[in-house]
Order: sequence, then C-alpha cells, then structure tokens
Amino acid sequence: MMQVHCLVLLSLCYGALAMPRPTNNEDVSSTDQDLAQEYLNKFYPPISRDRKTFRERLEEMQKFFRMKVTGKLDTDTMNIMKSPRCGMPDVAEFSTFNGRPRWQKNSITYRILNYTPDLPVSVVDNSIQRALNVWSQVTPLSFTRVNNGDADILIQFNARSHNDQNPFDGPSGILAHAYAPGARIGGDAHFDEDERWTDNQAGFNLFLVAAHEFGHSLGLGHSDDRRALMFPTYRYVNTNNYRLSQDDVNGIQSLYGRRRK
Ligand SMILES: [Zn+2]
Ligand SMILES: [Zn+2]
Repeated sequence: MMQVHCLVLLSLCYGALAMPRPTNNEDVSSTDQDLAQEYLNKFYPPISRDRKTFRERLEEMQKFFRMKVTGKLDTDTMNIMKSPRCGMPDVAEFSTFNGRPRWQKNSITYRILNYTPDLPVSVVDNSIQRALNVWSQVTPLSFTRVNNGDADILIQFNARSHNDQNPFDGPSGILAHAYAPGARIGGDAHFDEDERWTDNQAGFNLFLVAAHEFGHSLGLGHSDDRRALMFPTYRYVNTNNYRLSQDDVNGIQSLYGRRRK
C-alpha cells in the first residue's frame, strides 16, 4: 500500500520540480523541448538526494531504450517520446517495486467496474480473462471474477481525471496505468477511455495493454528488454496463443514462484 502512494507521489512531486531547461538542443522546437522535459519528469523522475541534469536523464532514457546515447533530442529520441505507452516510470531489466510488494496469497479476485463502449461486453470480459491467464499460466496464482463488493484488482475505463491523482491525457500518449499489490487502490488497473480499444491490430489491443497492466497489479515494474511484455511502450503482436517473454517469466516467478504441476 505504501508503495502505491510512493509511486503516485513521486510522479506528482517530481512532475512539479523545476528543472533547468535543456540548452544543448538549439535545433529542437520548443514544443518538442517541453514534451521531452515532461516525459523525463514523468518516466525518469530524479530522486531528491541525487538530482540529475536534463542531459543525464535523457542519457538514462536513451540507455533504457538501447538507443545511441547522445544526450541530445535527436529524431529517434523524439519518436520514442511520442510513442503511445504505459503511464508508469521506467527502470532496468525486469523489475519489482521498492520493497517488492506482492499478494500474500495465490487466489486473487478481480472485478470489472465498467465497460468501454468500443467493444462488446463479452469481448472485454474475454480480453481481461485472457490477460490474467497469461500470468497464471506460469505461477501458482489463480484469478476469480466477482461481480459486486470489493476485489483485489478493480478494473475500470475512465477519461481524464478519475479520482486518483493520475489523470489520463486524451487520445494516445498514456494508455493505462495500474497500482502495485496492496489494500484499497493497490492492484487496480485503469484504462484511458479516450483510446480506441480493440481486439485486433487497430487502435490499441485491450488484451495486450491489460496483460501489461496486470504485470504491475501483481508487482512487476517495467523492463528494458524490448521483447518483454513489461517494456513500457505499446507494440502490437499477434495475440493468438500469446506467451510471455523469458524476462517476464523470470520477473513474475521471482515474486510468486513457478506453477505447481
Ligand atoms: Zn507499465
Ligand atoms: Zn487511474
């Protein structure tokens, strides 16, 4: 629970921290500079006792994405910063949250609080169930759906502000976010209703985004392995017989162990 608050606070506090303006990118438009600054504030928040310069954090971001580390807002860097992605911050390899929060039980409940008008109810139900199965296939975890009362993982679709200090941003940009395991908002997954949710390669595939967000709901942070589901940017892949990358499997099994045969 504490961890959830930390994450929320981090992005909030650091979002408001004044940072020196980048000075080494004269050929970059001021819109792009503002975008880059906002991106780094949000996804590479400086730790207060270790304030990093804009350039250092830009290099950290380029390293994370395994790009050429130039410390400059070049075209490749700007393209990544403009790619649709998850709203949680970035760290390296598979990661867990500070203090490694996890569910202290293997039987987890979930509840779908509302539906996107983009898809039939049955398709949403099915996408969510398959997204949870991705994780239960490789761990002792099981997921049970409930239709009323509280549940460990509450799932909802919202646009803009939705009572959790992390407002969504309209179409594209941030697609969804989720909270590390814990009481109350812990484990909950929120999807930006301003996206077009689909069950194919158009718009954003709900199954793929949900499977990623549930990784957070179970205690995983981002991975810098491009093949990992927990990589922060959205990439469509064929969802038939979808399987996690080895990095995702290592991550979730570090928290819950292997599936008992
Ligand atoms: Zn994420
Ligand atoms: Zn939210």
